Amino acid sequence: MSGSDRRTEAIYLDYNATAPVKPEVSEAIAEALSITGNPSSVHQFGRDARDAVETARDRVAAMIGARPEDIVFTAGGTEANNMALNGARRRRLVISAIEHPSILRAAESIADSTSRGNEKELEVLPVDSLGVVSLQALDQVLGENADDVLVSIMLANNETGVIQPVADIATLAHERGALVHCDAVQAPGRIAFDVAALGVDMLSLSAHKFGGPKGIGALFVAGAFDLEPLIVGGGQERSRRPGTENVAGIVGFGVAAQLAAEDLQRAPHVAAMRDRVEQNLSEIDPNVIIFGAGAERLPNTSCLTMPGVQSEMQVMGLDLAGVAVSAGSACSSGKVEPSHVLRALGLPDGETGCAIRISFGWASRDEEVDKLVRAWRAFYAGLSARFTSGVSQTSGSGTAVGR
Ligand code: PLP
Repeated sequence: MSGSDRRTEAIYLDYNATAPVKPEVSEAIAEALSITGNPSSVHQFGRDARDAVETARDRVAAMIGARPEDIVFTAGGTEANNMALNGARRRRLVISAIEHPSILRAAESIADSTSRGNEKELEVLPVDSLGVVSLQALDQVLGENADDVLVSIMLANNETGVIQPVADIATLAHERGALVHCDAVQAPGRIAFDVAALGVDMLSLSAHKFGGPKGIGALFVAGAFDLEPLIVGGGQERSRRPGTENVAGIVGFGVAAQLAAEDLQRAPHVAAMRDRVEQNLSEIDPNVIIFGAGAERLPNTSCLTMPGVQSEMQVMGLDLAGVAVSAGSACSSGKVEPSHVLRALGLPDGETGCAIRISFGWASRDEEVDKLVRAWRAFYAGLSARFTSGVSQTSGSGTAVGR
């Protein structure tokens, strides 16, 4: 069987890394590629491109209950996050220990930088054992007056799926005068949310997590708020993000945003698939640990351990059986390091090093749950047979670790 034949039969359960592009999105992108004009040109060709960009902006804005003029297109979630943290120009940054690396590294680099002559401070909030950011810690860190603070907390964690109390965080932060940014990259099509109910000043999105193309995203920036651009150039995106717009990517993003409402309707079904996986795997091995299970979670995400078996072994074993899951966030794949998110839950490396993430999405089907469970059961049985026949377990060498 060739590699491509195997891929045809393989099932994809790694939507938090990236979701397959929806067919309607591909079609719209193909059409948009034939738009000749530059959206900044005043002639008819330019106006066609401008119309395509503005239609997409309306759709993205509608998805999150924002005004179209408050949407700034970026080259993805990473850029939107960097733009928010850098552009807010606040002296103190408050983030959580479970943020995506595009927040963690950006905040660290801003705090390290003395090039602007003003020292920046960074505070990292802890999470509880379920992976929920502590409001009490935020309260203490903010103090009485926080008008020099930007708080940035994600809406849903990419590894555990745990949903954060962003509306409460925004209320508290605003009471003290702080600005609030939210990385909502994992939320569209999975949970209903809007910027007014969350009460945030800025919010990051990325199209490729919900059926749009990779490399396009947006930062919502509440109207009155003045944001410094990350890069300089022309006056595109109201001078907040210069550079000729990625028209085809933006069009695809717009169509995906429009279709996200359908995914929300299917969310209870997706949650049922996720629950069935968790139930089945826990029956195979009662020692399975499901991270964040007692918290409010995205319906599509399960982060769990097969105790005693390193993550990458499980990912490779399942891959050989035609099931694609992740050993953690996509950004850290390839590196054999326990996840900073799971470490933040206070668990020993022996447990966090055995975690895999299974994430469902718009094209996931019930049969895929059965195939995953069969593959996991066979892999597990194979390991048990090896161990009971006297094969030794080696710690930290890429094979099984003892419990
Ligand atoms: N924020 C979160 C929570 C993510 O999961 C990701 C992607 O993995 C990003 C930001 C970065 O988005 P992008 O891949 O569009 O740069």
